Parts: sequence; C-alpha cells; structure tokens
Amino acid sequence: MYGSVELGGTKIRCAVFDEDGQMLDELRIETKDPDSNIKELVDYFKDKDIKSLGIGAFGPIDIDVDSQTYGYVLETPKRLWRNYDLLGNIRKELDLPIGFTTDVGASGIGEYRFGAGKDKKSSLYLTIGTGIGGSFIQEGKLLEGYAHPEMGHIEISREAGDDVKSFCDYHDSCFEGLCAGPSIKLRTGENGQDLDKDHEVFDLLARYIAKALMTYSLILRPHIIIIGGGVANKEGMIEKIRKEFDRLNTGYIDLPASNEYIVFPELGNEAGLIGGFVLAKEALDKK
Ligand code: ZN
Repeated sequence: MYGSVELGGTKIRCAVFDEDGQMLDELRIETKDPDSNIKELVDYFKDKDIKSLGIGAFGPIDIDVDSQTYGYVLETPKRLWRNYDLLGNIRKELDLPIGFTTDVGASGIGEYRFGAGKDKKSSLYLTIGTGIGGSFIQEGKLLEGYAHPEMGHIEISREAGDDVKSFCDYHDSCFEGLCAGPSIKLRTGENGQDLDKDHEVFDLLARYIAKALMTYSLILRPHIIIIGGGVANKEGMIEKIRKEFDRLNTGYIDLPASNEYIVFPELGNEAGLIGGFVLAKEALDKK
C-alpha cells in the first residue's frame, strides 16, 4: 500500500491507496500549526502498512533535493508554517521513501496519469481559484527548474480602463493579482459565486485567462491544458475562455481545437491525492 498527503492551506487530507490506485482509507484534518498537524499525520500512517509516501504541499516549498532547506515550507503568508522543515519532521517519524512536490504539481500528475491528460505526451494543469498555480508535465516528468514554476505570477497586459488594484503584494499586474477569486470582490464588491454568470466581470477575467493560456501555449506547447478551481468552474466560464483564446490565436501556432485543448479536470477534488499516490510509487521505484 501507498500513502498520499494533500497538504492544503485550510485542510489536510491523508489517504492510503492499493497497488492499482484505489483509495482504501482517508483522514481529513484542519490545517493548524505544523507540529500538531504533523503529529496527526504521522499517527495516521504509523499503523498503516505503507511502502512509501507522496506529498503535495501548499507553497512556496523547497523542492531542490540538493538544497540545505529541501522539504521546507518557505515564505508563505501562513506564518506558523514559514521556514518549517516539513519533510524533515515527517522523516523523523516515518522511515520511508517520500515523494514531495507542490499541491498543484501533485494534482497535475494525478490528471496526467489518470485524468484528462492520460493519453497525452504533455499536459499543463492550472488551478484558478483563490490563488493561481500551474504545473507542466512532459513524458511523465514535472517541469522543475531552479525551483517549482510560479505560473500564477506572470505579467498580464491590462485591458483598457481596468485600473483595479492587483491584490498580489509583489506584482501590480500579475495573473493571480488580476484574476484569482479575490479580484472579483475587488472589482464588484461581491464574491464570484454570488454573481450572475453573465456579469461582465467574467468576460474580463476570461480575456485575461486566455492571455495567460496563450503565453503558456507559446512557451510550453502543451498537448492539453487542464483548468480547475473556483473561477474556472463558474458556469459558462470555460466557454468564454475558449472563445477569447480563439480570438487571440491568430493562427501563428497550430493547436488542437479549443474545446479539446482547454478542458476541465476529470478527477475533480481527488486529483491531488491520486497525484500523491503516483509520487509515492515513483519514490519507491527510485529507492
Ligand atoms: Zn503576483
């Protein structure tokens, strides 16, 4: 059996999978302070007969195996977790091979292996919700350079007349700052889920999301783009995004039809845990 952890900013899910990727058991806990959460996690897995563990964690995290701080949570707004040796503290208690990446990396792997990307050579996975993150997988391998990608923070050119303040503390005009969930409240005073699907704010966001997808398409040329998260899931949103994307694609690059190219995840909320299972298996193979 294999263990999988999805470590999110508000909740943590721990699960046990069999050889074939069937989930056998699950524990959900609230994200609190790291020491008590790690104790709960370790207690859960201790009496399970798992061979290895895969973890997808909220970031930023250090994924460079050669780094002094490999496995640490870095400069997160969640103060209690900042500079916390996540992996080291788990390893002290669980002597197992452990695969470790970001939450969006794990979800991307889950979708690539078992979901919307399963027959593709490469896939880009994006979550557009309260924040924006992305991961790119080619031939089964996550793209990781100096550190994990930060696809939510690419600069987006603003549409004329859009002078809303970016809510990203670091960038005046980045994808996340202009397009993630909180931007809807800044523009309209209301939360996205409370607005009519035809509200004009969604046309604006669709234009920005299409711009980002075009940039990723030019740089990475993925075989498929999988988009999830609250903003992407708003009724009618994916159709608007495809329409804007088609408008931006002047034919310079050849791409699949947008309704086959820009798609929803197939694993829903399970992508991260299933990705953790894949990471666990890989960690065991690498041993
Ligand atoms: Zn930013």
